[in-house]
Amino acid sequence: MTRRSHWLGEALAEDDEQAPQLHGIERADVCIVGGGFTGLWTAIRLKERDPALDVVIVEKDFCGAGASGRNGGFVLSWWAKFLSLQKICGEAEALRLGQASADAVAEIGDFCRQNHIDCHYRRDGWLWAATNEAQVGAWRSTVDAIGRFQRSPFEAWSPDDVARRSGSPMHLAGIFEPTAASVQPALLARGLRRVALARGVRIHEQTPLTRLVRSFRPQVVTPTGRVQAETIVLAMNAWGIRFAALRQAVVVGTSDIVATAPSPERLKEIGWGDGMTISDGRMLVHYYRTTRDGRIAFGKGGFAGPMPFAGRVGAKFDGPSRHPSAIADWLRWTYPILADVPIEASWTGPIDRSKSGLPLFGRLDGDPRILYAIGYSGNGVGPSALGGRILASLALGLKDEWSESGLVRPPRRDFPPEPIRAIGARLVRRAAVAKDRAEDSGRRPGRLVTYLAGFAPAGLSPFKGQKSGLAPPEPAGPDP
Ligand SMILES: Cc1cc2nc3c(=O)[nH]c(=O)nc-3n(C[C@H](O)[C@H](O)[C@H](O)COP(=O)(O)OP(=O)(O)OC[C@H]3O[C@@H](n4cnc5c(N)ncnc54)[C@H](O)[C@@H]3O)c2cc1C
Repeated sequence: MTRRSHWLGEALAEDDEQAPQLHGIERADVCIVGGGFTGLWTAIRLKERDPALDVVIVEKDFCGAGASGRNGGFVLSWWAKFLSLQKICGEAEALRLGQASADAVAEIGDFCRQNHIDCHYRRDGWLWAATNEAQVGAWRSTVDAIGRFQRSPFEAWSPDDVARRSGSPMHLAGIFEPTAASVQPALLARGLRRVALARGVRIHEQTPLTRLVRSFRPQVVTPTGRVQAETIVLAMNAWGIRFAALRQAVVVGTSDIVATAPSPERLKEIGWGDGMTISDGRMLVHYYRTTRDGRIAFGKGGFAGPMPFAGRVGAKFDGPSRHPSAIADWLRWTYPILADVPIEASWTGPIDRSKSGLPLFGRLDGDPRILYAIGYSGNGVGPSALGGRILASLALGLKDEWSESGLVRPPRRDFPPEPIRAIGARLVRRAAVAKDRAEDSGRRPGRLVTYLAGFAPAGLSPFKGQKSGLAPPEPAGPDP
């Protein structure tokens, strides 16, 4: 289990307690399926609203075993996705959610302090950087759109500052979001689990949902029992695509991370001694950060690796990366000066990408008793705290800004069924690889490559030809 990520190895060394498996029949007011950030925040928010509520979590492995214990630990707002927010929710709600997501970053830090969760929370900001000329200025349409509302969540940095403060001359330009934080994600997941238990949430680990019964009183069926509940919350992340309605709204890929040996002195020498997190603007994004003990954790979004067929997210989405040396090469490409620092760990995990790059929340097939969250698209650490509020309000039948949020929406048929989906996804991924490669070598990608890459779900910055409908009217040219 600890092989699922370096983070989980660290966290479980401190606390490897297992909750009991479910045996027999239980009843609950709310049964949450999935013990990641979404499930745990939902349980905690429900108990905050109504301490008497009977809440149970069923988790197929152990809490934090999914993406929540394996991610990069970037705690980001949704400001970088403002164009998508605006398109889906309209201006006013996009502004509200942008601000709420930035506030959530601070709230997570406060929550951890108040509840004694030491998850290495550090608020040193996020750099949205360009690692080739084509990426330079990719943020401009987003910054301009937010600026029209007299908001400026990003700081403009000079190219010299970007290179100096990130410790790499490969960063040609960038903008900085000071609000962002970083965490050791598995410690956060395990800490939330502890708080949920302390507030009276019942947790069953090693307890997979095998069937959902949608009768008068819905039930979560597991191999050793069942939970009957008034409301069921599916907080299963990518594994949620076993439900046809959710499968049509997301594609699942992988993201892979390598972690170096501790080298705090080297990080200080190159000027990246703080906890600033960094992403670049390529299609198959690179994201990297330092850790408390001076490692670099360097990740790359789904350029290879498995893709599920017909709703099955299997064991290939767990364990060490299948491409650690390719990821390590990208780390050394970005930080050639650290080429001699050894790689000590690698891991992989699933990403549930929606067309817009934003999650969807709602009622499965319109049934108010079965709720879902899916589609965080690789940005769920901070936003899942808001997801917990949305799902809690929906479960309690409240009418408030969370249950009525613009992100509460039915899953649309944004992706085709199998086998077209599997074939198409591979073609689009190959085009994305080719587009990034061309741009790294200063070439314009060919028309077919650009056309096919345009079918990829929205990332941070839209590009001309992107089919998500977010493309800016003019090509984003390089900064003067
Ligand atoms: C490698 C990687 C890097 C990432 N980096 C970042 C980052 O830096 N910043 C960021 O914001 N986001 C990042 N993400 C995304 C982020 O991790 C997720 O969006 C977030 O953790 C989602 O939380 P969740 O609770 O919805 O999902 P999960 O943590 O995956 O929880 C879902 C849970 O459901 C359980 N489950 C599945 N099927 C069943 C079943 N049948 N029965 C019972 N339980 C079931 C799983 O075991 C799992 O524990 C990254 C993801 C990956 C994989």
